[in-house]
Amino acid sequence: MRSDEMLSRAKRVIPGGVNSPVRAFGGVGGTPKFIARAEGAYIEDVEGNRYIDLVSSWGAIIHGHAYPPVVEAVTHAVAQGSSYGAPTMAEVELAEMICERVPGMDMVRLVSSGTEATMHAVRLARGVTGRDKLIKMDGCYHGAHDAVLVKAGSGVATFALPGSPGVPDVVAANTVVVPFNDLTSIEAAFQDHPEQIAAVLFEPVCGNMGCVMPKDGYLEGLRALCDQYGALLICDEVMTGFRVGYGGAQGHYGVHADLTCLGKVVGGGFPLAAFGGRAEYMKHLAPVGNVYQAGTLSGNPVAVAAGLAAMGDLTPDSYERLNAIGERLEEMLAPTLAEYGCSMTRLGGMFTIFFRSTEPTCFEEVSACNMTRFSAYFWEALRAGVYLPPSQYEAVFLQLGLTDEDVERVGSVLCQAVASACA
Ligand code: PMP
Repeated sequence: MRSDEMLSRAKRVIPGGVNSPVRAFGGVGGTPKFIARAEGAYIEDVEGNRYIDLVSSWGAIIHGHAYPPVVEAVTHAVAQGSSYGAPTMAEVELAEMICERVPGMDMVRLVSSGTEATMHAVRLARGVTGRDKLIKMDGCYHGAHDAVLVKAGSGVATFALPGSPGVPDVVAANTVVVPFNDLTSIEAAFQDHPEQIAAVLFEPVCGNMGCVMPKDGYLEGLRALCDQYGALLICDEVMTGFRVGYGGAQGHYGVHADLTCLGKVVGGGFPLAAFGGRAEYMKHLAPVGNVYQAGTLSGNPVAVAAGLAAMGDLTPDSYERLNAIGERLEEMLAPTLAEYGCSMTRLGGMFTIFFRSTEPTCFEEVSACNMTRFSAYFWEALRAGVYLPPSQYEAVFLQLGLTDEDVERVGSVLCQAVASACA
């Protein structure tokens, strides 16, 4: 069966034929590839076409697909039983590893998805402060739960949805949305809602409106405003954590939040995520405190084994390599991007080529990109064997499975794709 036949069959039983909206290729039109297997930097569709994978499971894969240490660890773990619903020593080891790497994280709790991580971090901040309102930034995605599905970037933006029906107005009203990179709006929000803001939730480097960088001083400004107004600062590092550097974005920028959400890389490609932070706050969680949070499969032994194996093999050298790959691509792409009026943003192993001449700094500027050109670029790259995220509102994720030869190929394919999209 081909991808298009599989999609027709899938659509009968799965809405849109996919289990997460951006997989439907809605931002670029056409039929998504059904995937048969992946190994190292390569992903193969059911037709037998092989692509260099720059989606990397939306950032969850960092060592490359079917990374032997992860395969070995999960094979061993699953043979000991796939779930107990009871504590294991491996969970403690992973928690210790996470706390050692994330600045300011004293305690952490393991969950199964990034959505869960941000949902529980927001509840914890509300429980700790006794306040209800949350500030988030336009175009930042923090998962698919009610409080954060307001101007949420990523798939919501790809499908041009303002938010989502089903999110009660009373819930959305507690989420104050401000533009990214704009401290004045945040200060105004604090003043408009005195003593009501529980937390500011942010992506330190946005990945869900493409890769958008914080301006100098922005992250420090968020920290200072939260301190001034008694709100908790929640850094959503589901995407950036253990990807943009050994200590994530907070390690890179030296700005430390009160609570941090993690996902993707930390689970080694398995359903595992985490939220944690300062002990004085984390101790409000049940069973120590009264803020409730739970999960049958939280700290699942197979996922934890994958996380330990993936995290255990990440060293500062891993990030130097990802950065070197990114630098080489930037170098190769620069003349073409300049010629065709495109721009590129990057931090470590995460980047986006934007179809506008200057780097965007907020969601509104990303929305002004030439989406027709993006879509042509996407299909041209795919045709030439490079699998990109199918939306201008998503970031590219580099992985350590890429050889020097792969990197050269990606560079020349992307130059060609940009040129033909803009011709
Ligand atoms: N936060 C951020 C910054 C994300 O990028 C994502 C997913 N792309 C999430 C939260 C939600 O994670 P999950 O899809 O695992 O629920």
